Amino acid sequence: MKDTFKHKGLRQQLVNVLIEKGIKSEPVLKAIGKIPRHLFMDSGFLDHAYQDKAFPIAADQTISQPYTVAFQTELLDVYPEDKVLEIGTGSGYQTAVLLELGARVYSIERQQELFKKTSKFLPQLGYRAKSFIFGDGYKGLPQEAPFDSIIVTAGAPYVPKALLSQLKVGGRLVIPVGDQVQIMNLFIRKGPKEFEQHEFGEFRFVPLLEDKN
Ligand code: SAH
Repeated sequence: MKDTFKHKGLRQQLVNVLIEKGIKSEPVLKAIGKIPRHLFMDSGFLDHAYQDKAFPIAADQTISQPYTVAFQTELLDVYPEDKVLEIGTGSGYQTAVLLELGARVYSIERQQELFKKTSKFLPQLGYRAKSFIFGDGYKGLPQEAPFDSIIVTAGAPYVPKALLSQLKVGGRLVIPVGDQVQIMNLFIRKGPKEFEQHEFGEFRFVPLLEDKN
């Protein structure tokens, strides 16, 4: 698992691309400038690791495009020690970004293969989530709720009520909603039953599927 000067240079170029595309959060840009994304991808795609593109990982899933990761993380507005729930561990790249921001991360994955691979791989890189869970993200993680924020990294056909109910008051849910194309949604919990909803642009994700595989 090598990280060379060449990789570092390519990463800095990627950070510059994200700045040009409108990402402003310094901690988010710093995290992306630091994390060796090439190590999260299969060897056939190593040369593409620092392009602003999504790529295939195991089990027919994808590692999200860096811009999408940055955009979602910026909306989440993470502070050190925040308790964050991630739905869709996948390659673990988004998890690593959250950990770089100092969050306490709980991450759920429904694909057994990815769950096993990533829960072993991230600690090898020094990224320690509070917990990796093999389960169905539609249900959230009631035993650890409430969360400061929840991020969904797959396209949801609708907003699962369980996720809204597991937010602290003041907490934020960032979730792409839609079938073929998704609209990025931010929900902020204003009170026990009050939520503020904001919509952002269009994105494309693999689907959020029910139950485990
Ligand atoms: N954050 C990941 C994105 C992976 S793609 C990364 O940066 O690599 C979305 C992931 O969501 C896939 O790994 C997919 O298996 C997972 N997923 C889909 N439906 C799910 C569900 N109901 N619960 C948990 N994970 C789910």
